[in-house]
Parts: sequence; C-alpha cells; structure tokens
Amino acid sequence: MVETRQNIKTFTFADLSAELKAMGLKKYRARQIFDWLYRKLAGSFDEMTNISKDERALLANHFAIPSLTVLYTDVSADGTMKFLFGLEDGHTIESVLIPDKDRLTLCISSQVGCSQGCRFCLTGSGGFERNLKAWEIADQVLTAEKYLETGGYGRGIKRRITNIVLMGMGEPLANFDEVAAALRLITVEHGLGFSGRRVTLSTAGLVPGIDRLGKSRLGINLAVSLNSAADEVRSRIMPINRRYPMKELLSACRRYPLKPRQRITFEYVMLKGVNDSEQDAHRLARLLKGIRCKINLIPFNPFPGSAFERPDEDTVARFQKILLGHHYTAPIRESRGRDISAACGQLRERTTRGG
Ligand code: SAH
Ligand code: SF4
Repeated sequence: MVETRQNIKTFTFADLSAELKAMGLKKYRARQIFDWLYRKLAGSFDEMTNISKDERALLANHFAIPSLTVLYTDVSADGTMKFLFGLEDGHTIESVLIPDKDRLTLCISSQVGCSQGCRFCLTGSGGFERNLKAWEIADQVLTAEKYLETGGYGRGIKRRITNIVLMGMGEPLANFDEVAAALRLITVEHGLGFSGRRVTLSTAGLVPGIDRLGKSRLGINLAVSLNSAADEVRSRIMPINRRYPMKELLSACRRYPLKPRQRITFEYVMLKGVNDSEQDAHRLARLLKGIRCKINLIPFNPFPGSAFERPDEDTVARFQKILLGHHYTAPIRESRGRDISAACGQLRERTTRGG
C-alpha cells in the first residue's frame, strides 16, 4: 500500500501548529503531540491518552509516525553499544552509544556514507550514498532512547541519553539544512530538549558550513577533525584540505562565536609515521595558539585494508606531553568498543559485506 499520510516527524513545531489549526484542532494539541513524540517516545496516536478518541482517529488518518528500524545491536566489553538502523529505502546507518561515569553519549550519523574520502576513514573509503533527512537524524536519538527504555541495553540499565555527538557516518556540514533542522528538534524545549552544551558537531573542515553554524544560534559545540598541522600532509590524508586549506580553516575557527567557557575541540587521529612526530606536536601547538580549544588525541583504529598503522603508546604519550607543556588540554581518546568494531563505519561494513 502506498503511504499517503504525511510523516509527522517532518514537521517543525510551528508547522504542526498551523497544520492542526487547518484541520480544525486546538492549538495546544501541537504541544501535547510533541510531548508524546519527543519526550514520552510514543509510536502511535493510540498512546496519546490526553487526546480524545475521535481526534486520535483523525490524526492517525492524516499523519504517519514512522521510525527507524533496529536491525542489529551489539554491546562491547566496555559497555559501548552499536546500533545498526534500517531506513525506509533499504539503506542502513549506525549510531554508537557510549556510557561513561556520569554521561551516556549517543554518536549519530548525518549521511549514508561520506563523499569526503579521508584516507584513514572506513566510511570515507565506502563512498557516498545519500544525505539523511532531518527526521532520520533525530530519530536515531528517539529510537535509541526507546530501545533503552524497554530494557534493550540489558544489565537492568534504563538510562536516558545525556549527550549527543555528530561523529558517526558522514560529514554533517555537507548536509547543512537537514542537520540544522534535526539539531533544532534535538535542542528545542518542546522537542527532545537537549541543551546545546550537550551536543557536539564534528566536521572535517567545511569552512562555509562552520561560518553558517556560527551564525545559526544553535549554540552547540564545534569539533574539527584536524589530524595534521602541515598543509601538504593534511591534503594527502584529507582531500577537503585542498579546497579549504588550514589557514582558512583556522581563521574560521578563530571567528567562530564561542560562549563563555565554551571551547573548540580539535580531533587529531594519530597515524604512525605520518603525523605523530615531536616536530608535529610542536607545530600543532604553535598553529592553535590563541584559539580557546582542547585537543583530542585519537590513536588510529585500524580496519582491514587500511594503509595506516597505530603509533605505539610511547609515541602517543610523548606527543601528548609536548602539548601539555604548551598548556593545552590534550586527552588521549581510545576508540571505544574496539572489540565490536564500533569505530566510524565499521559495523555497517561488517554486516553488509558479511565478513
Ligand atoms: N565527518 C566528520 C564526523 C565523522 S568522523 C569528521 O570528519 O569530523 C568522526 C571522527 O572519527 C573524526 O574526527 C575522524 O577523524 C575520526 N576517524 C575516522 N576514521 C578513524 C579511524 N580509523 N581511527 C580513529 N579515528 C577515526
Ligand atoms: Fe567523512 Fe569524517 Fe570519514 Fe572524513 S573522517 S571520510 S569527513 S566521515
């Protein structure tokens, strides 16, 4: 049967209010429906018990409430949980849930695949399929929360997600409009209600997108995948650097409006013999001077067929020590859930290629 009803998750709060008014319903119904959808995680109008039966039937005739399908989950020894979600057109995307002492972070995807082609990234090597719609981006949060609420995480844990990072598959700023609409659903008070301080978008460095994000007033945190302090090396491992070289990228970072106590995060994937020397560390320290930031050092997570290696622990520690000596905050971030291939793009690869 062809679906003729409208997907209610594609409506902003203002648009839904207008649509309900045109249907002859009271304005306050929009607030109630948003509350059911985004706070109480309702999957049908039948659950919306503070709305009369007749109106529920009218709504169910007019709107569909689709959601992502959980195709596969896997929990790693360190508690990291991977979701493989199915989309209506048969594509798949993934999210990763990362528990910490006082945080439960969900890492979500913004595209099916990625067109940026970074050499060290499995998603990048798989090519680009399509942009995600805003509701598909936000629904990763809803579907994961629903899964947790129904005890899917096991161990008797029913925690709510506290933080969201756009660091899964895809380049979020290459899908700006849909990502911004999703972030609005995630951060507005009558939507999912996350504080912008608990949401982080990671980009490979699309300069115009960084400027747009700064002007958007979304108030979320910015992370930039820098991965090298030398233009020629960065261009080799991240083709985007040829379009937006480091100088332009760092200027965009310098003019990015930060709130008090807010910092930009620079991600630095450490690749053996490529960007991990002491000279690289000093150069990085000089380059970021004057930017309110922290640097996340991420030892490369290898995958079958990758052309890079992970540096040994001593090299990583030496690199970190130099940055600390320059008074940077520079934690070493292990990719979590390595035993279940929870790094960028890897679960999808495993299940779609059957290896
Ligand atoms: N496209 C965005 C967000 C997704 S990638 C971006 O590039 O920022 C999220 C992070 O994973 C990036 O910082 C990227 O540098 C890192 N990453 C990709 N492949 C990796 C690998 N094999 N090992 C460790 N980190 C990796
Ligand atoms: Fe795309 Fe980010 Fe991977 Fe680069 S690192 S290919 S931008 S997902």
